[in-house]
Amino acid sequence: MTTLDDLPIRDDLRGKKPYGAPQKPVRVALNVNENTHPVPETVAQDIVDRVAQAVRTVNRYPDREFTVLREKLAAYLGHGITREQIWAANGSNEVLQQFMQAFGGPGRTVLGFPPTYSMHSIIAEGTGTHWVTAPRDADFELSPETVERGIRATKPDIVFLCSPNNPTGTPVSLDTIEAAYSAFDGMLLVDEAYAEFAPTGSPTALTLLEGRPRLAVSRTLSKAFAFAGARVGYLAADPAVTDALRLVRLPYHLSALTQAAAGAALDHADLMLAMVDDIKAQRDRIVAELPKLGYRPYRSWSNFVLFGGVADPHDVFLRLLADDILIRDLGIPGHLRVSAGTEAETTAFLEALARIEA
Ligand SMILES: *Cc1c(COP(=O)(O)O)cnc(C)c1O
Repeated sequence: MTTLDDLPIRDDLRGKKPYGAPQKPVRVALNVNENTHPVPETVAQDIVDRVAQAVRTVNRYPDREFTVLREKLAAYLGHGITREQIWAANGSNEVLQQFMQAFGGPGRTVLGFPPTYSMHSIIAEGTGTHWVTAPRDADFELSPETVERGIRATKPDIVFLCSPNNPTGTPVSLDTIEAAYSAFDGMLLVDEAYAEFAPTGSPTALTLLEGRPRLAVSRTLSKAFAFAGARVGYLAADPAVTDALRLVRLPYHLSALTQAAAGAALDHADLMLAMVDDIKAQRDRIVAELPKLGYRPYRSWSNFVLFGGVADPHDVFLRLLADDILIRDLGIPGHLRVSAGTEAETTAFLEALARIEA
């Protein structure tokens, strides 16, 4: 049988593993930080209507500039952001890939601070960008000094900060983001995939865009918006950055159906985000309950919780799976990550965990 090792694959891809969060049909899936609440029925109906309308003209290519969608995304973000500053693609992963294609590539480096989102290094590898790392502070925090030190030590072309960070849940302060921006003359990307789960009124890197053309802030409809299956992510940056992304995007990369569905979802942003407060309450409940079971959760501004104090993470992962509950074993010694689900799902997780010896 032929394996990929037998093929003349790029040398720098030899021996690599693809992204691999398990996809298993389970009763309680709390492993990839999805919003476990479905899209509200009234919104679903409107999305279906708009997609049905778009189907009638799919003989034509879609609007290559997805102008209406960019307008809606700009309006949703606020902070005086205009349509010219918005870029979107099939999930923020594609946005990050285009960003790396335009500003990274062979001979260039991107710096990340692990543990962080696993796709950041995988997208780096795929685009031939060298992934370099620097350490965090205690409890996975990131001070301005620590970020500056990491940048000075590695001299990267791109820096990726994830705030709140996946898989730790920890936010990155605006002071740290400003310090990173000033510490080098490359491109800084702040991945704010979970921004909507932060405490109300929390700072966002969007407020730093003015006067900082080398800064980009990425967001997604996959998490708070309960739209993971539709594949829509976006970023806000100086209009010159979106011009750079136009050089590498495939023409018509956002289908007419995606544009129609996302537009409808954004028109109902209030309803789509209605469950965010419930999810935050379940997250806070997990953080409050885990210490009673002998575990050590980290502070989280997202819809998941990383917790330490797990003697054998893989064993706990398997025992929960035997209970039809799927959480995430990221390979961080002594740690596991769980997404906040509905109240019933969260209860199922906490009760099953309580039955397992810490
Ligand atoms: C889930 C996640 C994303 C979202 O990716 P999409 O491609 O938009 O679904 C982006 N960044 C981080 C850190 C994530 O955890």
